[in-house]
Amino acid sequence: MRRRELSRRSGFCLGFSHSQTAGILPEWSPSAGHAGWSAQKTEGWKMENRSNNRPIPGISLSSVPSGTGCLECLSGAEPGWWVHLRRCAQCGHIGCCDSSPSQHASAHARTLGHPVITSYEPEEDWFYETNTKKFFRGPRLPDPQSRPLEQPVPAPAEKVPTDWRERIHR
Ligand SMILES: [Zn+2]
Ligand SMILES: [Zn+2]
Repeated sequence: MRRRELSRRSGFCLGFSHSQTAGILPEWSPSAGHAGWSAQKTEGWKMENRSNNRPIPGISLSSVPSGTGCLECLSGAEPGWWVHLRRCAQCGHIGCCDSSPSQHASAHARTLGHPVITSYEPEEDWFYETNTKKFFRGPRLPDPQSRPLEQPVPAPAEKVPTDWRERIHR
């Protein structure tokens, strides 16, 4: 419950599960591209018809995840812990979410111009276009689909301070 609360308040750091998005977000197909529907965070979650069928730039079907945790946090960027993980749909960069102290996923999208972020959390399959701020259901990217199940939230355990709740972005 705590996590759902936290997710709702923090930009694209959302807690969509597959069952929540099934039948709501559009399926992506290589031939049709983006189906034209997306969810937008306005007042609550509202569906919006984009009425175009162009493929979304920024998705590579051969992008392999960079690892099991945030690349920068694991490379020594302090404080070195994260709440949720996000995956760059273009190059596979794994970064930390906007609730995390360092927000490396957003920084990656911004600095490299890789616009599409997808969740790297188990049971979450939403995609997010950072330029348009739209959510959609994307194609299946190369495995693994998420971080290891046994990895805690937040992580890594040895780096997470006891007062981590006071240190996250809301
Ligand atoms: Zn990070
Ligand atoms: Zn990238």
